[in-house]
Amino acid sequence: MKNIAIALHGGAGTITRAALTAEQEKAYREALREAAEAGHRLLQEGKPALDAVELAVVLLEDSPLFNAGRGAVFTKEGKHEMDAAIMCGRTLEAGAVAGVQGVRNPVTLARAVMQHSEHVLLSGRGAEEFARDQGIPFAPESYFFNAFRYRQWSEVRDSDEFMLDHTEQPEKKFGTVGAVAVDLDGNVAAATSTGGMTNKRYGRIGDTPLIGAGTYANNKTCAISCTGHGEFFMRAVVAYDVSCLMEYRGYTLQQACDEVVLHKLVQFGGEGGLVAVNAAGEVALPFNSEGMYRASKKSSEATFVGIYKEG
Ligand code: ASP
Repeated sequence: MKNIAIALHGGAGTITRAALTAEQEKAYREALREAAEAGHRLLQEGKPALDAVELAVVLLEDSPLFNAGRGAVFTKEGKHEMDAAIMCGRTLEAGAVAGVQGVRNPVTLARAVMQHSEHVLLSGRGAEEFARDQGIPFAPESYFFNAFRYRQWSEVRDSDEFMLDHTEQPEKKFGTVGAVAVDLDGNVAAATSTGGMTNKRYGRIGDTPLIGAGTYANNKTCAISCTGHGEFFMRAVVAYDVSCLMEYRGYTLQQACDEVVLHKLVQFGGEGGLVAVNAAGEVALPFNSEGMYRASKKSSEATFVGIYKEG
């Protein structure tokens, strides 16, 4: 029997103890724990890794705490444009959507693109039309309204400044969600979902829906979901780079993650992190920022939940 494992993130950035009240911290920890344990239960039941990562990401998308789905940040026009991707490490099939509005769970739409279209990445109106054809649920504008996000956006709406989510320093805010898992058959999968960056130009697309940049899965190596300043993650092709170091250089999962996140990205100036699993059930949760909302659960071990560097 293989070792099952799931790992997820809810964004990375300069998240410090001082920035969160005890209540907020508790809410984040609970949401992360619930999503990790719900995905883990599916894996225990023998369900595929794809189901586990989709469920974990759906739960985080449904939480207003994270910058994805319901909690998606505002664009410069005061709208929500969401990106998501999912990939199967067994078949190397992938599906992604970019710049979609009104879709309740963009990760589910990404999975529909993977399974029910000839394409990998659909954007904007085309993706929304496909969602309607597939019977994927939409939600009204009010569902995505969040007073905190609105205030966050109001501070920068009249400027050309755009920012990542989640911290007190406007220029260092991240908040994407993502999950990776390995199932009882040793198949890995990855999924990522985001509202992108606060006050981003309409049409701006980040690393999240780009296979190889923010999301990647391959049974031979690992499954990866990234969070951080997307422009850097795209240029560094982060997720595929980790996989390549394992495939071509024989690095372990941890070595490959550390090389990319703690060395290469740092030199590049790209702040953020990622979650990764391999087919053997090993997990890595590296980040080069102050903190990263994260959780993992391996086989029958206790659930780990962390926010800051020390846990
Ligand atoms: N990577 C995401 C983006 O650039 C943002 C994030 O991780 O919070 O769209």
